[in-house]
Parts: sequence; C-alpha cells; structure tokens
Amino acid sequence: MTRRPGCPSESDRHTQLLLEYCAGRLDESQKVLLEEHLANCLHCMEFCEKQNAVWKGLDAWDAGPVDTGFDARLMARIEARPTWRTTLRRWLGELSWKPVLPAAAVLAAYFVVVTPQPPPQQQLVAGADVQEVEQTLQDLEMLQQLKLSVK
Ligand SMILES: [Zn+2]
Repeated sequence: MTRRPGCPSESDRHTQLLLEYCAGRLDESQKVLLEEHLANCLHCMEFCEKQNAVWKGLDAWDAGPVDTGFDARLMARIEARPTWRTTLRRWLGELSWKPVLPAAAVLAAYFVVVTPQPPPQQQLVAGADVQEVEQTLQDLEMLQQLKLSVK
C-alpha cells in the first residue's frame, strides 16, 4: 500500500479528517484539498471506499419494528423469579440426608468418647521453662553467696 508524504492516514487527527470527508461533513476547501490527495493516494482511497461501504451497509440495515410488549414481559419475568431463599429451601428439600446421618453419628460419638486433649509437647515446653527459671534463680543465689563470702 503506497502512502504519499503528508498522507492524512498517518495520524489519528487526519484519520478523523478522512472520516468526516466520508460522512460529507467537510467544508468545500478542505474537501477539494482532500480529493486531490485521494486521487494520488491508494491508501486513503481504499480507506474511503471501506468507510463508504460501512455507511451504505448501515443505511440498508433495517432494525425491524420495536416490540412494545418487551419491557412488560421482561419485568414480569424478573418479578416471577424465585428469591435465593426459595431456591435454597427447594434445593435442601430435594437433597437426601440419609447418607450423611451415619457419618454425623460417628463424628458425634468420637467427640463424646474421645475428648480432645491438648498436645503433650506444650506441657513439656512449659515444664522446661519452669526448670530453667529455677536453675537460673539457684545460680543467682549461689553468686550472691559467693560475693558475700569474698567481702
Ligand atoms: Zn493518503
């Protein structure tokens, strides 16, 4: 595709100029200048041909008649839609709880019979801390006695 120097399609602002030309919104002096360029620039000529094809397609497009009852039918469907609570209740009602009951009974029996105990390691750690504190206090007492005996 050949572009001539100063081609309007080189920037967004000039592309806007081509779009306005295709829409027939340019004043006569701009239109004459642009048409001189279009006669020599294949790139801009193809751009305008494609843009004109879009305009012709839009002109030929028939959107069809407007359905006046659409809004009323849509609102009726929205209002007739069940709430999330109704949907949840219906879903839970259809669900079979029979397979879940034995598992729940076993779990309940486990918590009744085997009461969870705190891990024994925590007690050991707490006991170790107490022993360290006792040892440190004994060491301090021994040092104080040594200081007293030195004086
Ligand atoms: Zn051009």
